Amino acid sequence: MIADNILDRAKQIERLNQPVVEWDILVIGGGATGLGIALDATARGYKTLLVEQSDFAKGTSSRSTKLVHGGVRYLAQGDIRLVREASIERGLLYRNAPHLIKDQTFIVPVYSLWARLKYTIGLKLYDRIAGKLRLGPSVFISKKETIEKLPGIKTNGLKGGVIYHDGQFDDSRLALNLAQSIWENGGVALNYVQVTSLLKNSMGMLCGATVLDVESKKTYTVKAKAIVNATGVFVDDILQMDKPGSAKTVCVSQGVHLVLDKSFYPSVDALMIPETSDGRVLFAVPWHDKVVVGTTDTPVEIASLEPKALEKEIDFILETAAAYFIKKPKRSDVLSVFAGLRPLAAPQKADQKTKEISRSHKIVVSASHLFTILGGKWTTYRKMGEDMVNRIEKELNWKHQLPATAYLHIHGYYKNENWQDPFYFYGSDATLLQQQINGTAGQWLSEELKIHPAQIVWAVEHEMARTLEDVLSRRTRALLLNARESLRIAPEVAVIMAKTLGKDDQWINDQLKKFNWLAEQYILK
Ligand SMILES: Cc1cc2nc3c(=O)[nH]c(=O)nc-3n(C[C@H](O)[C@H](O)[C@H](O)COP(=O)(O)OP(=O)(O)OC[C@H]3O[C@@H](n4cnc5c(N)ncnc54)[C@H](O)[C@@H]3O)c2cc1C
Repeated sequence: MIADNILDRAKQIERLNQPVVEWDILVIGGGATGLGIALDATARGYKTLLVEQSDFAKGTSSRSTKLVHGGVRYLAQGDIRLVREASIERGLLYRNAPHLIKDQTFIVPVYSLWARLKYTIGLKLYDRIAGKLRLGPSVFISKKETIEKLPGIKTNGLKGGVIYHDGQFDDSRLALNLAQSIWENGGVALNYVQVTSLLKNSMGMLCGATVLDVESKKTYTVKAKAIVNATGVFVDDILQMDKPGSAKTVCVSQGVHLVLDKSFYPSVDALMIPETSDGRVLFAVPWHDKVVVGTTDTPVEIASLEPKALEKEIDFILETAAAYFIKKPKRSDVLSVFAGLRPLAAPQKADQKTKEISRSHKIVVSASHLFTILGGKWTTYRKMGEDMVNRIEKELNWKHQLPATAYLHIHGYYKNENWQDPFYFYGSDATLLQQQINGTAGQWLSEELKIHPAQIVWAVEHEMARTLEDVLSRRTRALLLNARESLRIAPEVAVIMAKTLGKDDQWINDQLKKFNWLAEQYILK
């Protein structure tokens, strides 16, 4: 059972039960955007509550390409302002969460002298835009060096490559660390709490929301001075609650990734293919001892928390990767497939393609003061938070409080990471976790994924994991790294969780049923 000194969701829920509390800011949505806003607000001293209907980062924020990047593609599109903003944020995040953000080298193979010139100059510009916050200099490398670094690459017409630096991270672990930072700075961030309606005062202005604790099915009335809609691809649902009939603001685009064994791409450098047959870029990024390959850009009509990769997206990634990898991957080699939905600001022109829509963020304020945020990137979550809280202060005539997140260390902050350590992503928490592991070392639940029973207990007691999926998808990344292996260890994980949470056999059976269904969606037949 859970001891007193550890993070207890029930105690946090109690804070909803105090009718006299009026929150300064209520944030709806516990993805990168909402967490960034709630941390900014908390750090400025505002009484802040964040509610997430599912788990933190259940939506798009656990399904990214895992890059903290300035965006070479946006540079090619001429969006210098976005590249500058993202490059600064990349540098700040690298300093504030050094346990999660790696300096990753990328290689762009070039097949013509024009491409060589374009990418050498372009990437030098990329370095310059980042200024002091750049991670490392870009350099041109010869054909021989390119082949040494990318042994599987097609050599016909190869002129060489350009190496550049960007950041690489673990998205759902960062989301969790942001939630922990919110708690540590005095705010409340709750998973499995859903906003079901918005409340207005006699003047027709928003003054709170009705929220449902999805676990207990209990409803609470929450009073708040400002309400933020940071629900990603679901922003229009909240806008409808504010004003039925509101125009559509978001346009949804799906991106798919395949995870493969690193033997297909055994390089320490990531690969960036700058122009695929559909005119996008494709990445192959080393991640937790595997390689993540993606992504696509497919318009989608209906938003879902569990989007499904299309066959044509899977085929496209496999075919494109085959031209660059040492072994040509087949469907049966895919360890996991995952899809995410980009919440893009709806285009002004009806015929604009989703890949052409700017990734910069946009804030919209309704007549009743619902603050909605659209678009953006994981990389710029901090700046999005700062912009939103500045806007709330301005619109509601609050005294300006200085933003405080640019140099705020994020929970787990730890320098000089040993990236070979299987527990590196726990940062400063790794020492405590390691103490719990001592004596039982070697008894992995999964030798391949380096998952230990102590991590399951840790996820429940310190990281607010409530379901089997929370542990296997977002506290550890088992589901995304090897879906079959996650299925194999699920029964043991469920038993450990049940013991720690004080749950019965019925709970174990329900969790296993749900997780088995989910994992099947990540496996290619
Ligand atoms: C394929 C792909 C690859 C990407 N790669 C990168 C990358 O490498 N680097 C990068 O910087 N960016 C990347 N991005 C962009 C980045 O991932 C997104 O911009 C970001 O995750 C969006 O976060 P969000 O918080 O706005 O949305 P989400 O993460 O979807 O969060 C919204 C949350 O709101 C919750 N919610 C909805 N309704 C309610 C309600 N009524 N009550 C309570 N909660 C509610 C949802 O459950 C959800 O968790 C990528 C995006 C995609 C799709």
